[in-house]
Amino acid sequence: MMKREFVMVGNSLTLDFINTRICKQGQVIDLLEGTDDLSEWLECAGLLRYVSGSYAALDAETKQRLFTDFLRVRDVLMELVRDVMASGELTNGHKEQLNEELRKYPCTKQIDGQETDMHIESYYEAAYLPGAIVDNAAFLLTTVSPSKIKKCSNEECILFFYDNSRNASRRWCSMSTCGNRVKVNQHYHRKRGRE
Ligand SMILES: [Zn+2]
Repeated sequence: MMKREFVMVGNSLTLDFINTRICKQGQVIDLLEGTDDLSEWLECAGLLRYVSGSYAALDAETKQRLFTDFLRVRDVLMELVRDVMASGELTNGHKEQLNEELRKYPCTKQIDGQETDMHIESYYEAAYLPGAIVDNAAFLLTTVSPSKIKKCSNEECILFFYDNSRNASRRWCSMSTCGNRVKVNQHYHRKRGRE
């Protein structure tokens, strides 16, 4: 059973990972408080299938070290994504930062899939698994226009998403939460304004 309700609205592994920090009633909540939370998120995000060897078989100390490294990578990527969004481009400095992270996590390439669906996949030893997210971030930031990486328009929300809608008009992490909440607020203010 999942103890945590993870938010998978980012259209991107990298942004979903950054979105493990959420904001509720003005308070930032970290959904990754320990190794068990991380294991659940990795499962939820489908990352465990890119581990060569067994993640479950890792000893507690290795899991703890891995957890710390995942959080470090999250900080690095969060800052990087914000910075790329602010500057509107992937600068040489950003590129170097990503390359530095990429160099830390060796992987093995394998051809997966059948017939027309064949593709190259990267597999990581468990201790290098953060590399899967770094790799995804490098792909996102080198292939997607920074203008399509957005923060939710609800000022109280800190979630990010990749807007792949046709006219790039997505504004909310989720229509059912932030989108509606803001609309309800505006409606309420309009009504009050008339009174
Ligand atoms: Zn939101």
